[in-house]
Amino acid sequence: MNAFQNALKQLKAAADTMPLDSTTLEILKNPDRIVEVSLPVRMDNGALKIFTGYRVQYSNARGPYKGGLRYHIKVDLNELKALALWMTMKCAVVGIPMGGAKGGITVDPKKLSAGELERLTRALARAMKDVFGPDRDVPAPDVNTTPKIMAWIMDEYSKIAGQSTPAVITGKPIAIGGSAGREAATGQGAYYVIEELAKKLKMQPKKTAVVIQGFGNVGYHMANLMHTAGYRVIGLSDSRGGIVDLRKIGMDPKNVMAQKKSRGMIGEMYCIGSVCDGTNYKAVSNEKLLETPCDILIPAALEHQITNKNVSRIKAKIVLELANGPTTPEADEKLRRRKIVVVPDILANAGGVTVSYFEWVQNKQGLYWTEAEVLQKLEPIMRQSFDAIWDRHLKYKTTLRVAAFILALERLQNSIKARL
Ligand code: GLU
Repeated sequence: MNAFQNALKQLKAAADTMPLDSTTLEILKNPDRIVEVSLPVRMDNGALKIFTGYRVQYSNARGPYKGGLRYHIKVDLNELKALALWMTMKCAVVGIPMGGAKGGITVDPKKLSAGELERLTRALARAMKDVFGPDRDVPAPDVNTTPKIMAWIMDEYSKIAGQSTPAVITGKPIAIGGSAGREAATGQGAYYVIEELAKKLKMQPKKTAVVIQGFGNVGYHMANLMHTAGYRVIGLSDSRGGIVDLRKIGMDPKNVMAQKKSRGMIGEMYCIGSVCDGTNYKAVSNEKLLETPCDILIPAALEHQITNKNVSRIKAKIVLELANGPTTPEADEKLRRRKIVVVPDILANAGGVTVSYFEWVQNKQGLYWTEAEVLQKLEPIMRQSFDAIWDRHLKYKTTLRVAAFILALERLQNSIKARL
């Protein structure tokens, strides 16, 4: 089953649980538009290489299309369609006036020089000049795309438009219209969700062991927030492998990041100098990291990490999905039967797009907020979204994922029906 089929299954599970108008469901089963572009790029060795870029515009029922751009070798249309459907649901869950989209390029950006990456990105911006737009479709960072890449897109788009157009993209560097708090926003939003969940499940940070898969922007900030709040972060990993704290007292993610920066990978970090500390820490593969006994497991990397194959070996009490789509529907069902609470991606990682929306608002009004103001606006949105989902979870006696889809579909249905 591909990612889009999985996403449609989630949509159907919610539609079957709630009173949903059939027109709304039919409209939401397909993206509004798919754009595919060919991107010829001059490589450093003089050769011309052709890349393929995509944008899936799923729904603009609630506002301009919104969602990230992913640079990854596995980017394909089924994945992007799933991610664009999830963006549509995510924006509706947090009640921001934006639709859903996703795009990207099938490429391993780590194999490109800085110049090649810039030329590829600017080629994408040119090819998408009539697709993107501040009131049309507003991209953002996603896997392997950075504020710098957002800056190139905004610059190229502005040149073509003949005017500075910061609101065409979010996740930009602060110097050119980015928002304070955007980098940490996904982790910060998830942290508010954890606080709400902790109240419901009576969790105490000191007694709660956390494992996080993924040490990019999202995973790193989340690890830091959890550690600062007193949670015991006992396992961490990046794409090349991870590390588990055998004493279970918890690691300081800042130290792990310092080691990763100096040594290049997390899995090696406890080998300082030539003395390897195999007593307190153990290097593990990403697969094994997910199977570490813990209270909260946080997948913060790519989709399809918890599947039929490994779900029986997951030993967490809670799975908080910071990545998009890390759990397949079959695995989700098995987690439900084992009473493992899954906090779904469309709530857990929605802090990122919420602050993206704040960035867009600030760009449009030309008036900028402090980080404290950003957080002051983010916090109630995340807490209220959690509460609204928790209410539906009780009302419909269903999982938090189905409840989150129900909340999103209620809002989408209102917007779709208002214009019929
Ligand atoms: N890529 C992020 C996500 O999946 C952020 C999207 C955005 O800010 O538009 O939610």
